[in-house]
Amino acid sequence: MENVIILGTGIAGLTAAIYIARANLSPLLISGQEDGGQLMLTTEVENFPGFPDGINGQDLVANSKKQAEKFGAKFKTDIAEDFNPIDGGFEISLMGGDKIQTKTIIIATGASARWLGIPSEEKYKGRGVSTCATCDGAFYKGKEIIVVGGGDSAMEESLFLTKFATKVTVIHRRDEFRASKIMQDKFQKNENTEVIWDSVVEEILGDGKVVTGVKLKNVKTNDITEFKCDGVFLAIGHIPNTKFLTGKVDLDKLGYVKADTLMKTSVSGIFAAGDVQDTRFKQAITAAGSGCMAGMEAEKYLAEKE
Ligand code: NAP
Repeated sequence: MENVIILGTGIAGLTAAIYIARANLSPLLISGQEDGGQLMLTTEVENFPGFPDGINGQDLVANSKKQAEKFGAKFKTDIAEDFNPIDGGFEISLMGGDKIQTKTIIIATGASARWLGIPSEEKYKGRGVSTCATCDGAFYKGKEIIVVGGGDSAMEESLFLTKFATKVTVIHRRDEFRASKIMQDKFQKNENTEVIWDSVVEEILGDGKVVTGVKLKNVKTNDITEFKCDGVFLAIGHIPNTKFLTGKVDLDKLGYVKADTLMKTSVSGIFAAGDVQDTRFKQAITAAGSGCMAGMEAEKYLAEKE
C-alpha cells in the first residue's frame, strides 16, 4: 500500500510531493489529463518569488518535478477515475485499468479551461478555436485573432498572441476588465490590441474547414454584427476537475472541493490543494503554498495513525 497518492502534477501536487518525499514517504503522483497543469500553458510567470526576471511556466514545472524526483517521488501517467474506502485507506481506480491502494490521498487535480458551450465552437475546436495561446499561437502568423474574456488570462494571452497575429481584438461581455491593473496597462500599451466591450460571441463562423469570423451580440443593444477573424482564443476562466469526486468528498455548488484551513476534505485521510479547492486566489504561488500545507498535513496524519 502506498503512503500518499497525489492526484495531479501541477505546481500544487509537485510541491506536496517535495514535502512528502523529503519526509521519506515516497509519494506516488498520478499525472491526470493535463500533466504539469496550467503552468504548462502559460508563458512567463512574473510573480513567483525568487525569479526577478520571471520564469517560463514549463521550466517551473520541470524544475519542481526534478526536485520531487530527487527526494524519491514516483510518477505514473494515468487518470484517476474513482476511489473507494478500504481497510487502512483507499483504493484508487485508474483509467488504464490499474487499481492502487494508498493510506492517504491529496487531490490536486486543478481546473481546466472553460468553453463557451455553443455548437459552432465544437465544430471548429482545433480548427481555429483554442483555449491555449502558448500551444496554438504560432499557427496565426500574420492573421487576425479574437480573444474572449476580460481577466488576467485574456490580457496575457492577447499580448502573447501579438507576437504572431497582426491584430488581436478582445471581446468582453462587460465594459470594464476584471484583469489586474498591471496586466491591463500592458495590454493597453500594445499597439496591436483592440477591445470590443459589452459583447458576447453568439456563433463561430467558418467555411466548414477553418474559422472565418464570429457573430457578436452587443448585450446592451442586442445588435448582432459579424466580425472577421482567423482564430478564436477563449480565456473565460476554468472549471475544477472534480467530476470523479461527486458523492465521494464534499464539493461546493460550483464543483470545487471543500477543504478547511488545514487542507482537509470532508473525508478523513483525503486532502486537497491548488485550484481544485481555490475559488479565490488561483495563483501559482498559492497553489504551491496549499500543496505544501496538504503535504505536511498528510505526513502528520500518517504519523498519528502509526
Ligand atoms: P477569471 O479571472 O475568472 O476571468 C474570466 C473572464 O472571462 C472574466 O472577465 C469573465 O467575465 C469572462 N467570462 C467568464 N465566463 C464567460 C462566458 N461564458 N462568456 C464570456 N466571458 C466569460 O479567469 P482568468 O483570467 O483565467 O484568471 C484566473 C486566475 O488566474 C485569476 O486569479 C488571475 O488573476 C490569475 N492569473 C494571473 C495571471 C498573472 O498574474 N500573470 C495570468 C493569468 C491568470 P466577467 O469579468 O464579466 O466575470
